[in-house]
This record gives sequence, C-alpha cells and structure tokens, in this order.
Amino acid sequence: MRLVVLFLSLFSLLLAEPVVKIDSDTFSITDFELSYLVDKTNEVKFEDIKSKQFKQGPNRDSLGIKVKDVWVKIKLFNETKREQTIFLHQDTAFKFTSIEYFEVDSSDKLVNHQAIVPYGPLAKEQLNGADAVFEFSIKPDKYKTIYLHQKTPAYHFYNFLIYSQKESIRYLIYEKVDAVLISGLLLALALYNLLIFISSRYREYLYYSLYLISSTMWILYVYGSLAHYFQIYGDTPARFNFGIMLAPIFLALFIQTIFKTEEKYKFEHKLLSSIIVVSLLNFLYGIVDFTTALEILALSHNYALIVFLWVAVNLYIRGDKLVKIFLFAHTFYLFFSIYALMYFTGFADSNYISSRGTSIGLIIEALLLSYLVAHKFKIMEEEKEQERLKQIELKLLASTDPMTKLYNRRYFTEISKEVLNISKREKKHLSILMIDIDRFKRVNDTYGHQFGDEVLINLSRLLLDTQRQSDIVCRYGGEEFVILLPNTALQDATYLAEKLRKLVESLTLISPKNEDFNFTVSIGVAQIDVENEADIEQALKRADDALYEAKNSGRNRVSTKR
Ligand code: GH3
Ligand code: MG
Ligand code: MG
Repeated sequence: MRLVVLFLSLFSLLLAEPVVKIDSDTFSITDFELSYLVDKTNEVKFEDIKSKQFKQGPNRDSLGIKVKDVWVKIKLFNETKREQTIFLHQDTAFKFTSIEYFEVDSSDKLVNHQAIVPYGPLAKEQLNGADAVFEFSIKPDKYKTIYLHQKTPAYHFYNFLIYSQKESIRYLIYEKVDAVLISGLLLALALYNLLIFISSRYREYLYYSLYLISSTMWILYVYGSLAHYFQIYGDTPARFNFGIMLAPIFLALFIQTIFKTEEKYKFEHKLLSSIIVVSLLNFLYGIVDFTTALEILALSHNYALIVFLWVAVNLYIRGDKLVKIFLFAHTFYLFFSIYALMYFTGFADSNYISSRGTSIGLIIEALLLSYLVAHKFKIMEEEKEQERLKQIELKLLASTDPMTKLYNRRYFTEISKEVLNISKREKKHLSILMIDIDRFKRVNDTYGHQFGDEVLINLSRLLLDTQRQSDIVCRYGGEEFVILLPNTALQDATYLAEKLRKLVESLTLISPKNEDFNFTVSIGVAQIDVENEADIEQALKRADDALYEAKNSGRNRVSTKR
C-alpha cells in the first residue's frame, strides 16, 4: 500500500503542472514554464481541452514554421496576502490572426472569455500597441488558469509577460524603442545613400540603399514597431515580410556591382544571379500565396546566406582585398542569424540577442557595408588619380627632352601655334630668342662629350630658372635653344636676351680637369608680326639670321632682327 502511495505521489509529481507564483505586490515575470497544445485538426474547442494532454515548455518559445493553431495554458497562484491584479501581455499579438482568452478560477469555473482579432477591424481597440493585454485578478491563496487559443498565418511563437500594473505601463511606454531607433538609423542611411546615387549615378549606392530599405521594412514589422508606434495591423503590415524576400536581391546586385563580378569572377557572378532568381521567385510566389511563400522564405534565405559566404570566401582566396570587409560583415550577419535561427527552431534559449539576432546581424552588416562603399570609392579615386598621373607623365615624356627636361622641338612646333593664336586674339606682342653655345665643338673635343652634356644640362637649368611662367623654353637642336616669349615686344626680348647672355657668361662650372670652366652663348632676337604672320616660321628665320650675325660679329653677344 505504502508503495502504491509513493508511486502515485511520484506520478503526480511527474504530471505536476507548472505554476507561476505571485509572491509580491510588484512583479514582472518573464521566465516561467507553461503548457501548450498544438492543434493540427483546427477543431479543438474550449469544452474539449480538459480531456487533452498538454505539453510543458518554457515561455518565449518558438514552435516552428508549420504550427498555426495552439492552445496555451498558464496557471498562476497568489502567495501574497492581498488580491493581485495581473496584466498578462502577449508581446507579439499583432502577428496573430486571432487570440481567444479564457479565465478559469480555482473551482474550475470559466469567469471571463474574450476574443481578440489582430487581423480584424477592431484591432486598434483590442490591442495595446503591439501587445494584447489581459487583465485579471487572483484572491490570496487562490489559483487562476488562463487558456489562450492563438492562431498565426505562418510560424508560431509566443512571448508572454506577467506584470503588475506599474510594470505593465512601464513596458508599454518603453518597449520597441530599440527597434524603431534602429529602423530610423537604417532609413537615414538608406536615404543618404540614395542621395549619393542620385548625384553620382554609381549603382552600388542605389542597390545598397534598396537593400537597407527592404531590410528595414522587415525590421519595422517583425519587431513590432509598425504595430506599436503606428497601430498598423493585419494583412498589410505582414506584407512587410516581403522586405526580407527582396533584401537578398539587392545585396546580390550590390555585391555584383561593387566587386565587378561580371568581368572578374564569372562563376561567382552566376551564383549571385541565382540568389536574385530564387528570391525573386519567392517574392512573386508571395503575391499569389503569401503564407506558403513565407514557409519557403527560410529555404531561399538560407540558400542566399550560404552563397554569399561561398562567394565572399572565394573572392578572398583569389586575392580581392576589398572583399575582406564584406566577408567580415557577412560573418557577423551569419553568426547572429544562425543564433536567431537556433532560437526559432528551439536549439537556443530566448534572450535579447537570440530573439533579435537577424536584425542585430543586419545592422552590423549594414554599417560595415557602408564602410565598404566608402572604402571602394576611395580606392576608385586613387586609381583614377594614378591613371591621371600616368597620362600626364606620358604626355610629358612625349613632349620633353629627357636629358635637359626642356620641351622638344615637336612640342614647340605644336604649342607655338596655340601661343600665336592667343596673341592674335588678345592683340599681344610675341617675341622669340634663338640661343646657340659658342664653340661648343671645342668643348666636346677638349673635355669629352659627357662634359658637353653637363654644360647643356647646366645651361638648361639656368634658362628654366630665369623663365617667366608663360615663357616656353625649348631645346631646338643639339646645342641650340629657342625661347618663345608671349606678351613681350622686341625691345623687352632683347633686354631679356642680354640678361641671359650675361648670366651664362658669369656661370662657372668645374671641368673634368678640375679647372674653372666658363662658356658663352650668342643670341638672336626677333619679334613675330602677330597681325600679319600666319605662323612663327618667318620669325624663326629672322632670329636665326640675327644669331648668325651675332656669331659673325665675334660671338657672346645679342643681335636683334626687325
Ligand atoms: P659656333 O660657336 O659657331 O656655334 O661653334 P660650335 O662649335 O658650337 O658649332 P656648332 O654650333 O655647329 O656645333 C654643334 C656641336 O654641338 C656639334 C656637336 O658635337 C655638339 N653637340 C650637339 N648635340 C650635342 C649633345 O647632345 N651633347 C654634346 N656633348 N654635344 C652636342
Ligand atoms: Mg649650333
Ligand atoms: Mg654652337
């Protein structure tokens, strides 16, 4: 007999229902055990549930994607000496199509029955923001059992909160503030990127912006901001789930564009395109059959996650430096998404991070991606700058003489036409100097060709140092130089030539024999008849004649030809 009693008491202990104990006047109870019954037949009535076997489980649980109809049983006991008023929140009520509430007292009598239809026309009156709040009271030392019959269009999870009045009010004021702040931040970022796209026309910015907008759409709905702050309920906000179907499309387009996969990584490009196709099909299917599309979403989303990772790793292996940032960002997203997925499928406990994993991952990823965009354009600017410098260098190489760094004759012929045109237009004078080193053959013969070059380099430096900004100094031949002097009349040109002649005369170099070395130049000066001459050829001829004259009259002098 004793054994039987022991067995029975053990058995009843095993069967013992979880009870939530109220032990003070202010309370906020979120971690507790409840029991639930999944109704696959969709036909269980309140009258039948006494005969049904409930399963025990934790509050804040996810029952998965397939479950759509659930009975929840929460039993409470008042341990205090006063009657307690209790506010039972269903935190995600806005996602349910309907919630029926049954309040049963200690003597098994139904004392209150209420029906809330968050998808119905009275949702605004029946809900408190995103929450359904049921108020009831328990006398001291008494039990109450609450049955909730809830239906969802797709996946099923619940998050109940048992509050005293003060806690309940406090919660309704502060809840969802994080979600709405994050959404605001993401939308501001989206707008900013959209504006950059409009002004720059770089498609990366557009895709990134659309990615942010579609992700934010989903966050606004799924974490209750739409319901809580804007009292938008029912079918319409549930369509914000489309955001999470569209987000991978824009992310794939973004990755394709920013990493130029079409040119550089053909296979990865196709894989990314497959994400676009899969997600687009999921979205289009959602227009026809939204509920089934939501069920497929988990598959298409996981496919996208894996492909993104695969592509990122491959680009990284193939040495794309920029992809590091994306890989880093995506790893964050994956980590938090998997954690969230573990929570939804029941492998991880509920906490702030696991229940918001996807959005936390999204935000970190979004911020890192905006760093990626900024970094990419820094690189692009640098590449452009380098290209520009290379071009300038090439141009310079083609237009200058490598030894003296002066313009070569080819460039001089080209630029002189332009200079003459400007002078014609502006009715300005234009003069020309032709400079030739005196007895240069002798220099070469005495000291060697190499020293001759050194003399040429030193003379060139002197000419460059004395030139005005608009002057064009050119190595016209072996040891012959021409200087084009815009905005200069014959007289001033002659004056400048004389100045140069003297400077050269006083320039002392050290010869290979370690002696002081001096040399001189002869200069021919001429002015171009800007009004009447079509090119500078005749003036060049006049300057050459003048030079010849200078040579003939003893060298180291300036001669002018009118
Ligand atoms: P003049 O006073 O009449 O000008 O006498 P010159 O000896 O200087 O005669 P010319 O101007 O005809 O001499 C040109 C010489 O310049 C011929 C050549 O050996 C030398 N030369 C030309 N180009 C170079 C060069 O690049 N390097 C060196 N070292 N010598 C050069
Ligand atoms: Mg000469
Ligand atoms: Mg000479």
